[in-house]
Amino acid sequence: MGPAGNTKLRPAWAVLRFACAAVLLCGLLAPAKMAWADEGASSSDASSQQEVDPSNRINPRQTPDNSFLYDTSIDELVQADSSYQGNYVQVVGEVVGDSLVAEEDPGCHWITLESLETGSSSSISVLIDDKYLGYIDAYGRYNQVGTKLQVRGTFYLTCPSHEGIMDIHAESVQLVENGIKEHEQFDIATFIPGIVLVAFGIALTFLYNYLHEKER
Ligand SMILES: [Zn+2]
Repeated sequence: MGPAGNTKLRPAWAVLRFACAAVLLCGLLAPAKMAWADEGASSSDASSQQEVDPSNRINPRQTPDNSFLYDTSIDELVQADSSYQGNYVQVVGEVVGDSLVAEEDPGCHWITLESLETGSSSSISVLIDDKYLGYIDAYGRYNQVGTKLQVRGTFYLTCPSHEGIMDIHAESVQLVENGIKEHEQFDIATFIPGIVLVAFGIALTFLYNYLHEKER
């Protein structure tokens, strides 16, 4: 078929051809766009972490500014006796699980800090001011290492304000180490929509060619 054949293309064919091209293009671009989005997210994370890091990274061995501060551990606290009630303590732990809005304490969240001791899964509930949530770049769970925080505050073996649970009311929170997010591992699920679109576009192209040939 010569150039004359092309000019005889009916609008329906032109639309179908355009649709094929558009779907193919979307399919090819989708994974790339997702990859960019991911990178964008991680690089903005990185920059916000850098903003937090220099001024807030602490030396855990620095002299406590409060002489009654007990530099202790989560493992010690979960085994503590009543003599610890109301003590001003300092612990370091990994943020795990999720943060929860503290309904009885406006402007605060509950987080769970887990012991850093190997083989220990001791954890404690910590009430923190919302302004510290920005330090938390990852919550520890399967495939993900949570942010490590140092918390100073009042320890309650049985908290009078919170139904007798064991908790720490944080007065200050410092970032010790950023978490490691799971998105750094390859996730095939991210690419499935793109793969499906590409396959669909290829199928449409074949269909178009088949019907077009048949019509000739
Ligand atoms: Zn409490």
